Amino acid sequence: MPLSTKITRYATTPRKIAWISAAIGSTFFLLFITLSLTIVTHKRALLHDRLMVTMHSYMLNTLYDLKTTLTPLLPYIQQSCPQVNHELTSQAALNRHLNMILLVRNGNAYCSSATGAVSLDVNVLSPHTYQNKETDITLVPDTSAHPRGPSLVLWLKQPGKNKNGILATLNLDFMPSFLLAYRYQEIQGVALVTGDKALTTWGNQVIPATDLPSHPLRQFTVSGYPLSFFLYGDTLPVGDIYLMLLVGLLLAISVGSGCFLLLTTQYRPGRSILMAIKRGQFHVVYQPIIDAITGRTYGIEALLRWTHPIRGQISPEIFIHQAEEQNLIIPLTRHLFELVSQDAHRLRHFTPTGLRIGLNLSPHHLLAASFYSDVNIWLAAMPPAHFNYVFEITERTMVSEKNAAEIFDWIHQQNIQIAIDDFGTGHSALIYLEKFSFDYLKIDRDFIQSIGSETEATTVLDAVLNLAKQLNLKTVAEGVATREQATWLISRHVTCLQGYLFSYPLNIQKLIAYFQKEQGTLS
Ligand code: C2E
Ligand code: CA
Ligand code: CA
Repeated sequence: MPLSTKITRYATTPRKIAWISAAIGSTFFLLFITLSLTIVTHKRALLHDRLMVTMHSYMLNTLYDLKTTLTPLLPYIQQSCPQVNHELTSQAALNRHLNMILLVRNGNAYCSSATGAVSLDVNVLSPHTYQNKETDITLVPDTSAHPRGPSLVLWLKQPGKNKNGILATLNLDFMPSFLLAYRYQEIQGVALVTGDKALTTWGNQVIPATDLPSHPLRQFTVSGYPLSFFLYGDTLPVGDIYLMLLVGLLLAISVGSGCFLLLTTQYRPGRSILMAIKRGQFHVVYQPIIDAITGRTYGIEALLRWTHPIRGQISPEIFIHQAEEQNLIIPLTRHLFELVSQDAHRLRHFTPTGLRIGLNLSPHHLLAASFYSDVNIWLAAMPPAHFNYVFEITERTMVSEKNAAEIFDWIHQQNIQIAIDDFGTGHSALIYLEKFSFDYLKIDRDFIQSIGSETEATTVLDAVLNLAKQLNLKTVAEGVATREQATWLISRHVTCLQGYLFSYPLNIQKLIAYFQKEQGTLS
Protein backbone atom coordinates (compact mmCIF):
# COMPACT_ATOMS: atom_id res chain seq x y z
CA MET A 1 0.00 0.00 0.00
CA PRO A 2 1.51 3.38 -0.95
CA LEU A 3 2.45 5.69 1.94
CA SER A 4 -0.06 8.32 0.82
CA THR A 5 -2.91 5.77 1.01
CA LYS A 6 -1.77 4.70 4.47
CA ILE A 7 -1.73 8.33 5.58
CA THR A 8 -5.23 8.87 4.17
CA ARG A 9 -6.54 5.87 6.08
CA TYR A 10 -5.41 7.43 9.32
CA ALA A 11 -5.63 11.14 8.58
CA THR A 12 -9.28 11.45 9.41
CA THR A 13 -9.32 13.53 12.56
CA PRO A 14 -7.46 16.73 13.48
CA ARG A 15 -5.75 14.86 16.32
CA LYS A 16 -4.47 12.13 14.01
CA ILE A 17 -3.37 14.75 11.48
CA ALA A 18 -1.51 16.57 14.25
CA TRP A 19 0.26 13.35 15.25
CA ILE A 20 1.25 12.55 11.68
CA SER A 21 2.50 16.15 11.16
CA ALA A 22 4.50 15.98 14.40
CA ALA A 23 6.04 12.68 13.32
CA ILE A 24 6.97 14.12 9.91
CA GLY A 25 8.38 17.28 11.57
CA SER A 26 10.48 15.21 14.01
CA THR A 27 11.78 12.93 11.27
CA PHE A 28 12.72 16.00 9.24
CA PHE A 29 14.51 17.46 12.28
CA LEU A 30 16.56 14.29 12.83
CA LEU A 31 17.42 14.02 9.14
CA PHE A 32 18.35 17.70 8.94
CA ILE A 33 20.62 17.52 12.00
CA THR A 34 22.32 14.29 10.87
CA LEU A 35 22.84 15.61 7.36
CA SER A 36 24.03 19.08 8.35
CA LEU A 37 26.39 17.64 11.00
CA THR A 38 27.88 15.30 8.41
CA ILE A 39 28.21 18.02 5.77
CA VAL A 40 29.63 20.66 8.14
CA THR A 41 32.10 18.19 9.72
CA HIS A 42 33.29 17.11 6.27
CA LYS A 43 33.60 20.71 5.04
CA ARG A 44 35.50 21.76 8.16
CA ALA A 45 37.89 18.80 7.81
CA LEU A 46 38.66 19.88 4.23
CA LEU A 47 39.17 23.45 5.41
CA HIS A 48 41.59 22.35 8.11
CA ASP A 49 43.55 20.26 5.61
CA ARG A 50 43.79 23.29 3.33
CA LEU A 51 44.88 25.46 6.26
CA MET A 52 47.65 22.97 7.06
CA VAL A 53 48.93 23.03 3.48
CA THR A 54 48.86 26.86 3.43
CA MET A 55 50.70 27.15 6.74
CA HIS A 56 53.27 24.56 5.70
CA SER A 57 54.10 26.25 2.42
CA TYR A 58 54.17 29.63 4.14
CA MET A 59 56.72 28.34 6.68
CA LEU A 60 58.85 26.73 3.96
CA ASN A 61 58.89 29.98 1.95
CA THR A 62 59.73 32.06 5.03
CA LEU A 63 62.63 29.80 6.01
CA TYR A 64 63.89 29.68 2.43
CA ASP A 65 63.70 33.48 2.29
CA LEU A 66 65.63 33.75 5.57
CA LYS A 67 68.30 31.37 4.38
CA THR A 68 68.63 33.34 1.14
CA THR A 69 69.11 36.54 3.15
CA LEU A 70 71.50 35.06 5.71
CA THR A 71 73.73 32.77 3.58
CA PRO A 72 75.54 35.69 1.79
CA LEU A 73 76.46 37.00 5.27
CA LEU A 74 78.40 33.84 6.25
CA PRO A 75 81.72 35.01 4.70
CA TYR A 76 81.58 38.09 7.01
CA ILE A 77 82.50 35.82 9.94
CA GLN A 78 86.16 36.23 8.92
CA GLN A 79 85.84 39.99 9.35
CA SER A 80 85.72 42.25 12.42
CA CYS A 81 82.40 43.61 13.72
CA PRO A 82 82.86 47.30 12.77
CA GLN A 83 83.58 46.20 9.16
CA VAL A 84 80.30 44.26 8.79
CA ASN A 85 78.01 45.74 11.39
CA HIS A 86 76.35 48.15 8.99
CA GLU A 87 75.51 45.35 6.53
CA LEU A 88 74.07 43.20 9.35
CA THR A 89 71.89 46.09 10.54
CA SER A 90 70.47 46.85 7.13
CA GLN A 91 69.76 43.14 6.36
CA ALA A 92 67.96 42.75 9.70
CA ALA A 93 65.93 45.88 8.98
CA LEU A 94 65.03 44.84 5.45
CA ASN A 95 63.70 41.37 6.28
CA ARG A 96 60.41 41.57 8.18
CA HIS A 97 60.96 38.13 9.70
CA LEU A 98 64.27 39.05 11.28
CA ASN A 99 64.70 40.62 14.71
CA MET A 100 68.41 40.36 15.12
CA ILE A 101 71.40 38.83 13.33
CA LEU A 102 74.45 37.63 15.33
CA LEU A 103 77.79 36.55 13.86
CA VAL A 104 79.26 33.60 15.78
CA ARG A 105 82.89 32.63 15.86
CA ASN A 106 84.05 29.59 17.95
CA GLY A 107 80.72 29.43 19.80
CA ASN A 108 80.88 33.10 20.69
CA ALA A 109 78.53 35.76 19.27
CA TYR A 110 80.82 38.72 18.56
CA CYS A 111 78.74 41.00 16.39
CA SER A 112 75.05 41.96 16.63
CA SER A 113 72.90 43.75 14.05
CA ALA A 114 71.25 45.54 16.98
CA THR A 115 74.09 46.57 19.25
CA GLY A 116 77.29 46.13 17.28
CA ALA A 117 80.27 44.43 18.94
CA VAL A 118 79.24 41.97 21.71
CA SER A 119 80.63 38.88 23.37
CA LEU A 120 78.01 36.32 24.22
CA ASP A 121 78.24 32.54 24.60
CA VAL A 122 75.83 30.83 22.19
CA ASN A 123 75.28 28.06 24.78
CA VAL A 124 73.85 30.75 27.07
CA LEU A 125 71.97 32.62 24.37
CA SER A 126 70.34 29.55 22.87
CA PRO A 127 71.24 26.50 24.94
CA HIS A 128 69.45 23.98 22.64
CA THR A 129 70.99 25.08 19.36
CA TYR A 130 73.24 22.39 17.85
CA GLN A 131 76.13 24.43 16.52
CA ASN A 132 77.55 21.52 14.54
CA LYS A 133 74.33 21.10 12.50
CA GLU A 134 74.04 22.87 9.12
CA THR A 135 70.77 24.51 10.16
CA ASP A 136 68.86 24.36 13.39
CA ILE A 137 65.85 26.11 14.77
CA THR A 138 64.98 26.30 18.47
CA LEU A 139 62.69 28.14 20.84
CA VAL A 140 64.32 30.24 23.53
CA PRO A 141 62.37 31.48 26.54
CA ASP A 142 61.96 35.03 27.75
CA THR A 143 65.33 35.56 29.47
CA SER A 144 67.68 38.45 30.08
CA ALA A 145 69.36 37.52 26.82
CA HIS A 146 65.95 37.84 25.09
CA PRO A 147 64.15 40.57 27.00
CA ARG A 148 61.59 41.06 24.24
CA GLY A 149 59.94 37.75 25.00
CA PRO A 150 60.31 34.18 23.77
CA SER A 151 61.84 33.88 20.35
CA LEU A 152 62.54 31.44 17.63
CA VAL A 153 66.24 31.19 16.87
CA LEU A 154 67.62 30.06 13.52
CA TRP A 155 71.16 28.69 13.27
CA LEU A 156 73.12 28.67 9.99
CA LYS A 157 76.56 27.01 10.18
CA GLN A 158 79.49 28.27 8.17
CA PRO A 159 80.29 25.31 5.87
CA GLY A 160 83.18 23.23 7.18
CA LYS A 161 83.60 25.22 10.39
CA ASN A 162 81.93 23.88 13.56
CA LYS A 163 80.74 26.53 16.01
CA ASN A 164 81.08 29.26 13.34
CA GLY A 165 77.88 30.61 11.86
CA ILE A 166 74.96 32.99 12.05
CA LEU A 167 72.37 33.01 14.80
CA ALA A 168 69.21 34.91 13.91
CA THR A 169 66.24 35.60 16.15
CA LEU A 170 62.96 35.63 14.28
CA ASN A 171 60.01 37.93 14.57
CA LEU A 172 57.11 35.80 15.79
CA ASP A 173 54.58 38.63 15.64
CA PHE A 174 54.93 38.73 11.91
CA MET A 175 54.01 35.12 11.33
CA PRO A 176 50.79 35.61 9.42
CA SER A 177 50.20 31.88 9.53
CA PHE A 178 49.34 32.33 13.18
CA LEU A 179 46.87 35.04 12.33
CA LEU A 180 45.59 33.08 9.40
CA ALA A 181 44.49 30.38 11.78
CA TYR A 182 42.31 32.85 13.66
CA ARG A 183 40.22 33.58 10.63
CA TYR A 184 38.53 30.27 11.38
CA GLN A 185 36.45 30.58 14.49
CA GLU A 186 36.72 26.88 15.30
CA ILE A 187 40.56 27.19 15.55
CA GLN A 188 41.22 28.07 19.16
CA GLY A 189 45.01 28.08 19.14
CA VAL A 190 48.25 27.14 17.46
CA ALA A 191 51.37 25.69 19.11
CA LEU A 192 54.83 25.88 17.68
CA VAL A 193 57.12 23.03 18.78
CA THR A 194 60.89 22.62 18.54
CA GLY A 195 62.44 19.65 20.28
CA ASP A 196 60.82 19.36 23.70
CA LYS A 197 59.81 23.06 23.88
CA ALA A 198 56.57 24.67 22.74
CA LEU A 199 55.16 28.16 22.34
CA THR A 200 51.42 28.64 22.09
CA THR A 201 49.11 31.41 20.93
CA TRP A 202 47.27 31.28 24.25
CA GLY A 203 50.35 31.84 26.46
CA ASN A 204 53.40 34.00 26.09
CA GLN A 205 55.84 31.54 27.65
CA VAL A 206 57.91 28.71 26.33
CA ILE A 207 56.53 25.55 27.91
CA PRO A 208 57.56 21.88 27.85
CA ALA A 209 55.99 20.22 24.80
CA THR A 210 54.59 17.57 27.12
CA ASP A 211 52.32 20.24 28.68
CA LEU A 212 50.47 20.75 25.40
CA PRO A 213 46.88 19.53 25.26
CA SER A 214 46.56 16.10 23.72
CA HIS A 215 44.59 15.48 20.53
CA PRO A 216 45.32 18.48 18.34
CA LEU A 217 42.96 18.99 15.42
CA ARG A 218 45.86 18.86 12.98
CA GLN A 219 49.70 18.87 13.12
CA PHE A 220 52.57 19.09 10.68
CA THR A 221 56.37 19.27 10.66
CA VAL A 222 58.13 21.76 8.40
CA SER A 223 60.16 19.59 6.00
CA GLY A 224 63.91 19.84 6.69
CA TYR A 225 63.53 21.61 10.07
CA PRO A 226 62.91 20.33 13.59
CA LEU A 227 59.87 22.58 13.72
CA SER A 228 56.27 21.41 14.12
CA PHE A 229 52.90 23.13 14.30
CA PHE A 230 49.90 21.90 16.27
CA LEU A 231 46.42 23.25 15.62
CA TYR A 232 43.82 23.15 18.42
CA GLY A 233 40.08 23.68 18.30
CA ASP A 234 36.75 21.95 17.61
CA THR A 235 35.63 20.65 14.28
CA LEU A 236 32.17 21.61 15.44
CA PRO A 237 32.09 24.43 17.97
CA VAL A 238 29.17 24.41 20.45
CA GLY A 239 27.93 27.69 18.93
CA ASP A 240 27.58 26.01 15.54
CA ILE A 241 25.72 23.06 17.05
CA TYR A 242 23.28 25.41 18.78
CA LEU A 243 22.76 27.29 15.55
CA MET A 244 22.11 24.07 13.66
CA LEU A 245 19.65 22.89 16.32
CA LEU A 246 17.84 26.22 16.17
CA VAL A 247 17.66 26.26 12.36
CA GLY A 248 16.64 22.57 12.38
CA LEU A 249 13.93 23.25 14.93
CA LEU A 250 12.53 26.23 13.02
CA LEU A 251 12.54 24.30 9.75
CA ALA A 252 10.98 21.24 11.43
CA ILE A 253 8.21 23.43 12.87
CA SER A 254 7.61 24.89 9.39
CA VAL A 255 7.59 21.42 7.79
CA GLY A 256 5.27 20.06 10.53
CA SER A 257 2.89 23.02 10.17
CA GLY A 258 3.02 22.71 6.38
CA CYS A 259 2.11 19.02 6.65
CA PHE A 260 -0.69 19.83 9.06
CA LEU A 261 -2.12 22.38 6.63
CA LEU A 262 -1.69 20.10 3.64
CA LEU A 263 -3.20 17.11 5.39
CA THR A 264 -6.06 19.19 6.74
CA THR A 265 -6.92 20.65 3.36
CA GLN A 266 -5.95 17.78 1.10
CA TYR A 267 -6.00 14.52 2.99
CA ARG A 268 -9.11 14.86 5.12
CA PRO A 269 -11.64 13.34 2.79
CA GLY A 270 -14.45 15.75 3.75
CA ARG A 271 -12.45 18.83 2.82
CA SER A 272 -11.53 17.61 -0.60
CA ILE A 273 -14.93 16.15 -1.46
CA LEU A 274 -15.97 19.20 -3.49
CA MET A 275 -12.67 19.06 -5.38
CA ALA A 276 -13.14 15.34 -6.03
CA ILE A 277 -16.65 15.98 -7.40
CA LYS A 278 -15.23 18.62 -9.75
CA ARG A 279 -12.44 16.33 -10.87
CA GLY A 280 -14.76 13.38 -11.47
CA GLN A 281 -13.17 11.10 -8.89
CA PHE A 282 -16.48 9.55 -7.81
CA HIS A 283 -18.27 6.74 -9.57
CA VAL A 284 -21.13 4.47 -8.65
CA VAL A 285 -21.11 0.71 -8.23
CA TYR A 286 -24.29 -1.32 -8.09
CA GLN A 287 -24.92 -4.37 -5.95
CA PRO A 288 -27.63 -6.75 -7.19
CA ILE A 289 -30.46 -7.65 -4.80
CA ILE A 290 -31.89 -11.12 -5.36
CA ASP A 291 -35.52 -12.22 -5.18
CA ALA A 292 -35.58 -15.00 -2.57
CA ILE A 293 -38.26 -17.00 -4.39
CA THR A 294 -37.26 -16.74 -8.05
CA GLY A 295 -33.52 -16.26 -7.55
CA ARG A 296 -33.62 -13.48 -10.16
CA THR A 297 -32.35 -9.99 -9.75
CA TYR A 298 -34.98 -7.96 -7.93
CA GLY A 299 -33.15 -4.67 -7.85
CA ILE A 300 -29.80 -2.98 -7.47
CA GLU A 301 -28.36 -0.74 -4.76
CA ALA A 302 -26.24 2.23 -5.86
CA LEU A 303 -23.11 2.66 -3.75
CA LEU A 304 -20.71 5.54 -4.15
CA ARG A 305 -17.00 4.98 -4.70
CA TRP A 306 -14.16 7.52 -4.45
CA THR A 307 -10.98 6.73 -6.32
CA HIS A 308 -8.31 9.25 -5.51
CA PRO A 309 -5.53 9.46 -8.14
CA ILE A 310 -2.80 9.20 -5.50
CA ARG A 311 -4.49 7.76 -2.47
CA GLY A 312 -6.50 5.10 -4.24
CA GLN A 313 -9.87 3.89 -2.94
CA ILE A 314 -11.31 5.79 -0.01
CA SER A 315 -13.92 3.89 1.97
CA PRO A 316 -17.50 5.29 1.89
CA GLU A 317 -17.61 4.68 5.65
CA ILE A 318 -14.99 7.48 5.86
CA PHE A 319 -16.12 9.96 3.21
CA ILE A 320 -19.88 9.72 3.86
CA HIS A 321 -19.22 10.40 7.53
CA GLN A 322 -16.94 13.32 6.66
CA ALA A 323 -19.40 14.71 4.14
CA GLU A 324 -22.12 14.63 6.78
CA GLU A 325 -19.87 16.25 9.37
CA GLN A 326 -18.90 19.05 7.01
CA ASN A 327 -22.30 19.72 5.48
CA LEU A 328 -21.23 18.39 2.12
CA ILE A 329 -23.63 15.45 1.99
CA ILE A 330 -26.15 17.44 -0.08
CA PRO A 331 -23.75 18.33 -2.92
CA LEU A 332 -22.44 14.76 -2.74
CA THR A 333 -25.94 13.24 -3.04
CA ARG A 334 -26.74 15.61 -5.93
CA HIS A 335 -23.60 14.28 -7.58
CA LEU A 336 -24.79 10.73 -6.89
CA PHE A 337 -28.10 11.61 -8.59
CA GLU A 338 -26.22 12.90 -11.63
CA LEU A 339 -23.96 9.84 -11.86
CA VAL A 340 -26.87 7.43 -11.43
CA SER A 341 -28.95 9.19 -14.10
CA GLN A 342 -26.00 9.05 -16.52
CA ASP A 343 -25.50 5.32 -15.86
CA ALA A 344 -29.25 4.67 -16.05
CA HIS A 345 -29.42 5.78 -19.70
CA ARG A 346 -26.90 3.07 -20.60
CA LEU A 347 -28.29 0.52 -18.18
CA ARG A 348 -31.88 0.66 -19.36
CA HIS A 349 -30.95 -1.19 -22.56
CA PHE A 350 -29.73 -4.20 -20.59
CA THR A 351 -32.14 -4.38 -17.67
CA PRO A 352 -35.75 -5.54 -17.38
CA THR A 353 -38.41 -2.82 -17.07
CA GLY A 354 -39.43 -2.20 -13.50
CA LEU A 355 -35.97 -3.01 -12.06
CA ARG A 356 -35.68 -1.39 -8.64
CA ILE A 357 -32.84 0.95 -8.13
CA GLY A 358 -32.04 1.84 -4.54
CA LEU A 359 -30.16 4.97 -3.46
CA ASN A 360 -28.82 5.69 0.00
CA LEU A 361 -30.01 9.04 1.29
CA SER A 362 -28.72 10.88 4.26
CA PRO A 363 -31.33 12.13 6.78
CA HIS A 364 -29.63 15.54 6.57
CA HIS A 365 -30.55 15.79 2.94
CA LEU A 366 -34.13 14.71 3.52
CA LEU A 367 -34.58 17.55 5.98
CA ALA A 368 -33.00 20.17 3.70
CA ALA A 369 -35.16 22.71 1.88
CA SER A 370 -33.59 21.73 -1.44
CA PHE A 371 -34.55 18.07 -1.05
CA TYR A 372 -37.79 18.26 -3.05
CA SER A 373 -36.26 20.12 -5.98
CA ASP A 374 -33.16 17.91 -5.94
CA VAL A 375 -35.33 14.78 -6.22
CA ASN A 376 -37.50 16.32 -8.95
CA ILE A 377 -34.46 17.27 -11.00
CA TRP A 378 -33.09 13.76 -10.62
CA LEU A 379 -36.39 12.10 -11.58
CA ALA A 380 -36.58 14.31 -14.66
CA ALA A 381 -33.05 13.30 -15.63
CA MET A 382 -33.73 9.56 -15.33
CA PRO A 383 -34.89 7.57 -18.41
CA PRO A 384 -38.70 7.65 -18.34
CA ALA A 385 -40.82 4.62 -17.38
CA HIS A 386 -38.06 2.10 -16.93
CA PHE A 387 -36.88 1.90 -13.32
CA ASN A 388 -38.65 1.76 -10.00
CA TYR A 389 -37.03 3.79 -7.27
CA VAL A 390 -36.22 3.02 -3.66
CA PHE A 391 -34.70 5.43 -1.18
CA GLU A 392 -32.71 3.70 1.55
CA ILE A 393 -32.79 5.67 4.76
CA THR A 394 -31.07 4.61 7.97
CA GLU A 395 -33.47 4.13 10.85
CA ARG A 396 -31.28 5.88 13.41
CA THR A 397 -31.99 9.56 12.91
CA MET A 398 -34.79 9.86 10.44
CA VAL A 399 -37.64 8.23 12.29
CA SER A 400 -37.19 10.48 15.30
CA GLU A 401 -37.77 13.61 13.20
CA LYS A 402 -41.10 15.36 13.78
CA ASN A 403 -41.99 15.91 10.14
CA ALA A 404 -40.66 12.54 8.99
CA ALA A 405 -44.16 11.32 8.12
CA GLU A 406 -44.71 14.31 5.83
CA ILE A 407 -41.47 13.74 4.01
CA PHE A 408 -42.14 10.02 3.64
CA ASP A 409 -45.58 10.82 2.23
CA TRP A 410 -44.07 13.20 -0.31
CA ILE A 411 -41.53 10.54 -1.34
CA HIS A 412 -44.32 8.03 -1.85
CA GLN A 413 -46.27 10.57 -3.93
CA GLN A 414 -43.29 10.68 -6.31
CA ASN A 415 -43.65 6.90 -6.76
CA ILE A 416 -40.53 6.24 -4.78
CA GLN A 417 -40.51 3.44 -2.25
CA ILE A 418 -38.77 3.65 1.09
CA ALA A 419 -36.46 1.11 2.65
CA ILE A 420 -35.42 1.42 6.24
CA ASP A 421 -31.70 0.68 6.13
CA ASP A 422 -29.45 -1.04 8.65
CA PHE A 423 -32.49 -2.21 10.59
CA GLY A 424 -31.63 -3.39 14.06
CA THR A 425 -28.74 -1.06 14.69
CA GLY A 426 -30.79 1.93 15.91
CA HIS A 427 -33.01 2.39 18.92
CA SER A 428 -36.77 1.90 19.42
CA ALA A 429 -37.01 0.92 15.78
CA LEU A 430 -39.86 -1.54 16.27
CA ILE A 431 -42.19 1.18 17.58
CA TYR A 432 -41.75 3.22 14.41
CA LEU A 433 -42.44 0.34 12.09
CA GLU A 434 -46.15 0.75 12.72
CA LYS A 435 -46.09 4.54 12.83
CA PHE A 436 -44.51 5.12 9.40
CA SER A 437 -45.26 3.56 6.09
CA PHE A 438 -42.10 1.85 4.94
CA ASP A 439 -41.94 -0.56 2.04
CA TYR A 440 -38.77 -2.50 2.83
CA LEU A 441 -36.88 -3.45 5.88
CA LYS A 442 -33.16 -3.94 5.27
CA ILE A 443 -31.87 -6.16 8.03
CA ASP A 444 -28.35 -5.24 9.04
CA ARG A 445 -25.38 -7.44 8.22
CA ASP A 446 -24.64 -8.01 11.92
CA PHE A 447 -27.91 -9.96 12.33
CA ILE A 448 -27.25 -12.02 9.24
CA GLN A 449 -23.82 -12.94 10.56
CA SER A 450 -25.37 -14.35 13.72
CA ILE A 451 -27.24 -17.02 11.73
CA GLY A 452 -26.06 -20.49 12.74
CA SER A 453 -24.74 -19.35 16.09
CA GLU A 454 -28.09 -19.67 17.92
CA THR A 455 -27.45 -16.50 19.88
CA GLU A 456 -29.89 -13.87 21.09
CA ALA A 457 -29.43 -12.06 17.79
CA THR A 458 -31.00 -14.93 15.85
CA THR A 459 -33.98 -14.94 18.17
CA VAL A 460 -34.44 -11.20 17.58
CA LEU A 461 -34.02 -11.75 13.84
CA ASP A 462 -36.75 -14.38 13.93
CA ALA A 463 -39.06 -11.96 15.78
CA VAL A 464 -38.31 -9.12 13.34
CA LEU A 465 -39.10 -11.30 10.33
CA ASN A 466 -42.41 -12.36 11.88
CA LEU A 467 -43.31 -8.75 12.67
CA ALA A 468 -42.44 -7.62 9.14
CA LYS A 469 -44.74 -10.32 7.76
CA GLN A 470 -47.57 -9.10 9.98
CA LEU A 471 -46.97 -5.50 8.89
CA ASN A 472 -46.86 -6.51 5.24
CA LEU A 473 -43.33 -5.20 4.90
CA LYS A 474 -40.92 -6.67 2.39
CA THR A 475 -37.57 -7.68 3.88
CA VAL A 476 -34.06 -7.50 2.44
CA ALA A 477 -31.27 -9.38 4.18
CA GLU A 478 -27.99 -7.45 3.89
CA GLY A 479 -24.52 -8.93 3.69
CA VAL A 480 -25.50 -12.53 2.92
CA ALA A 481 -22.18 -14.20 2.53
CA THR A 482 -22.82 -17.95 2.91
CA ARG A 483 -25.16 -20.52 1.44
CA GLU A 484 -26.18 -21.50 5.00
CA GLN A 485 -27.33 -17.95 5.74
CA ALA A 486 -29.28 -17.82 2.48
CA THR A 487 -31.03 -21.16 3.15
CA TRP A 488 -32.00 -20.08 6.67
CA LEU A 489 -33.32 -16.71 5.43
CA ILE A 490 -35.31 -18.26 2.58
CA SER A 491 -36.87 -20.74 5.05
CA ARG A 492 -37.97 -17.70 7.11
CA HIS A 493 -39.63 -16.13 4.01
CA VAL A 494 -37.26 -13.16 3.53
CA THR A 495 -38.26 -11.26 0.37
CA CYS A 496 -34.80 -10.43 -0.94
CA LEU A 497 -31.17 -11.28 -0.37
CA GLN A 498 -28.14 -9.07 -0.92
CA GLY A 499 -24.53 -9.94 -0.31
CA TYR A 500 -21.23 -11.19 -1.61
CA LEU A 501 -22.70 -14.70 -1.98
CA PHE A 502 -24.64 -13.40 -4.98
CA SER A 503 -22.57 -10.53 -6.21
CA TYR A 504 -20.09 -7.90 -5.15
CA PRO A 505 -21.01 -4.31 -5.97
CA LEU A 506 -20.26 -3.97 -9.73
CA ASN A 507 -19.20 -1.06 -11.88
CA ILE A 508 -21.40 -0.17 -14.84
CA GLN A 509 -19.53 -2.37 -17.35
CA LYS A 510 -19.58 -5.40 -15.07
CA LEU A 511 -23.20 -4.76 -14.19
CA ILE A 512 -24.14 -4.75 -17.88
CA ALA A 513 -22.23 -8.03 -18.30
CA TYR A 514 -24.05 -9.38 -15.20
CA PHE A 515 -27.46 -8.60 -16.72
CA GLN A 516 -26.44 -9.94 -20.12
CA LYS A 517 -25.45 -13.20 -18.46
CA GLU A 518 -28.71 -13.34 -16.50
CA GLN A 519 -30.76 -12.67 -19.65
CA GLY A 520 -28.75 -15.43 -21.37
CA THR A 521 -29.54 -17.99 -18.70
CA LEU A 522 -33.20 -17.02 -18.68
CA SER A 523 -33.80 -17.21 -22.44
P1 C2E B 1 -25.02 0.18 3.38
O1 C2E B 1 -26.06 1.10 2.85
O2 C2E B 1 -25.41 -0.77 4.46
O3 C2E B 1 -24.41 -0.59 2.15
C1 C2E B 1 -24.12 -1.93 2.14
C2 C2E B 1 -22.68 -2.12 2.40
O4 C2E B 1 -22.43 -3.48 2.64
C3 C2E B 1 -21.83 -1.75 1.18
O5 C2E B 1 -20.62 -1.26 1.67
C4 C2E B 1 -21.62 -3.08 0.54
O6 C2E B 1 -20.48 -3.12 -0.30
C5 C2E B 1 -21.45 -3.95 1.75
N1 C2E B 1 -21.75 -5.36 1.50
C6 C2E B 1 -22.66 -5.89 0.64
N2 C2E B 1 -22.66 -7.24 0.73
C7 C2E B 1 -21.74 -7.56 1.68
C8 C2E B 1 -21.29 -8.83 2.24
O7 C2E B 1 -21.73 -9.90 1.88
N3 C2E B 1 -20.34 -8.76 3.22
C9 C2E B 1 -19.84 -7.57 3.65
N4 C2E B 1 -18.90 -7.59 4.60
N5 C2E B 1 -20.23 -6.38 3.14
C10 C2E B 1 -21.19 -6.37 2.16
P2 C2E B 1 -20.00 0.07 1.16
O8 C2E B 1 -20.25 0.23 -0.30
O9 C2E B 1 -18.62 0.06 1.66
O10 C2E B 1 -20.84 1.16 1.85
C11 C2E B 1 -20.76 1.34 3.21
C12 C2E B 1 -21.81 2.30 3.65
O11 C2E B 1 -21.57 3.60 3.14
C13 C2E B 1 -23.18 1.97 3.13
O12 C2E B 1 -23.76 0.99 3.95
C14 C2E B 1 -23.91 3.28 3.24
O13 C2E B 1 -24.34 3.51 4.55
C15 C2E B 1 -22.80 4.24 2.91
N6 C2E B 1 -22.92 4.65 1.50
C16 C2E B 1 -22.41 4.08 0.41
N7 C2E B 1 -22.76 4.78 -0.69
C17 C2E B 1 -23.53 5.81 -0.26
C18 C2E B 1 -24.22 6.88 -0.90
O14 C2E B 1 -24.22 7.03 -2.13
N8 C2E B 1 -24.91 7.76 -0.09
C19 C2E B 1 -24.97 7.61 1.24
N9 C2E B 1 -25.68 8.49 1.96
N10 C2E B 1 -24.34 6.60 1.88
C20 C2E B 1 -23.63 5.71 1.14
CA1 CA C 1 -28.02 0.84 1.95
CA1 CA D 1 -27.23 -1.26 5.20
